[in-house]
Amino acid sequence: LAKKTRQTSIVFEARLEQRSANRLELIAQLRKAITDNEFCLFFQPKLNLRTNSINQAEVLLRWNHPVHGLIAPGAFIELAEQTGMIRDITRLVLKQTYAIITLCANQNIRLSVNLSAMDLEDFSLIDFMQTLHKQQPDASRHIVLEITESAAMRDPEQALDILNQLAAMHFQIAVDDFGTGYSSLAYLKRFPVTELKIDRSLVQGADLDTDGQIILESTIEMGHIMGLLVTTEGVETQSEYELVKKLGADYVQGFWLSKPMPFDEFKLKHLVGNHD
Ligand code: C2E
Ligand code: CA
Ligand code: CA
Ligand code: CA
Repeated sequence: LAKKTRQTSIVFEARLEQRSANRLELIAQLRKAITDNEFCLFFQPKLNLRTNSINQAEVLLRWNHPVHGLIAPGAFIELAEQTGMIRDITRLVLKQTYAIITLCANQNIRLSVNLSAMDLEDFSLIDFMQTLHKQQPDASRHIVLEITESAAMRDPEQALDILNQLAAMHFQIAVDDFGTGYSSLAYLKRFPVTELKIDRSLVQGADLDTDGQIILESTIEMGHIMGLLVTTEGVETQSEYELVKKLGADYVQGFWLSKPMPFDEFKLKHLVGNHD
């Protein structure tokens, strides 16, 4: 199924880029997808290298398109951001994540949700999250919000304001895709961040390349010096896994461990019997 999904999404993406008329068509379809909630969530496990256990996962969005089947976010997230539809999508993802946390009451589980740049400029998102938070005050402790540096740096003061309000509700904040784009450590230090997710471009092949290994090692060290938990993303091979473990990463995520999967599968494989 995973292979088929990926192919469908790649074909769909290529077609979208070829015909500009498709952009309008896609906008209409995406609008309908939001109204009818054609989205579902996939979960990619994270391995805790300290305890050698799995109780965390990243929430990854899929569009269950009526014609094309499951589509990965690469095919529509950018358009959702350009059109502002991402605001509604983020709310759907958060709502579904809250529902999952409710299902997992008393379980030791933590889910990471991706926020987009626009979410860090959206003060009404805070109201939305306050409402969820009031209904379920304990849920936020089970949720990590992933932001990228470039998103936070579009308007750092505003992002800081929003992130401080989210941290006050006990959400944890992770910096995603670290090592891509520009890094402003001065600002990063001011943000209420608890986790650094090192991008797969720094991880992949680092086992075969001395310079790459030095860069990865110093990035992990820097995260630790700043008091952050460090996740290495995109670990695909046993040898990459052994390297990041040796270099002291706290968590590992990647196809070496597991591809993203539907919640029922994640639950069966990793959550059964895993109580607080
Ligand atoms: P990301 O946040 O960096 O998420 C990790 C992506 O890398 C996922 O792709 C995941 O399937 C893929 N991946 C994980 N392990 C490996 C590996 O070992 N090798 C390789 N080559 N890839 C790996 P996915 O699910 O297609 O998502 C792509 C991007 O779309 C995400 O990148 C994130 O930026 C965005 N995204 C996903 N879900 C959401 C969402 O709910 N909201 C928003 N705003 N963005 C989302
Ligand atoms: Ca992410
Ligand atoms: Ca990432
Ligand atoms: Ca990303």
